Amino acid sequence: MPVTASQPPTTAEVLRGAGLRVTAVRVALLETVRGGDHLGVEAVASGIRDRVGHVSLQAVYEGLHALTAAGLVRRIEPAGSAPRYEGRVGDNHHHLVCRSCGVVADVDCAVGEAPCLVPADDLGFSLAEAEVIYWGLCAECSARGQ
Ligand SMILES: [Zn+2]
Ligand SMILES: [Zn+2]
Repeated sequence: MPVTASQPPTTAEVLRGAGLRVTAVRVALLETVRGGDHLGVEAVASGIRDRVGHVSLQAVYEGLHALTAAGLVRRIEPAGSAPRYEGRVGDNHHHLVCRSCGVVADVDCAVGEAPCLVPADDLGFSLAEAEVIYWGLCAECSARGQ
């Protein structure tokens, strides 16, 4: 079967391409995170278990750490809430977080190129990224008057 350049790489190829050892747990982890919506650790663990059966929480943490370090998974940690993981990486997008229900939503970068926010003074830093969290109430919570 001819392989075209437009064909997306398999999850195993993505892991290998990032220099990671390919394991069933890591494949399941990346697929879970990519298919999910800012998942917490427990949700990632249950997604992996749905795919490959039992896996310890320790193995889930190890996998998340490895994939985050390799840049395949992005960790966001809104103040006062548990970390969430997402598969949308490298585009410097920002997040809206609801103070009431904790829902997290993506918001595209205003300008497009990272970092899309320019500090008043960069103090000589070579900046790679800007991370913004907009706090408020989601539409549902606002409507409920929370
Ligand atoms: Zn809400
Ligand atoms: Zn996001």
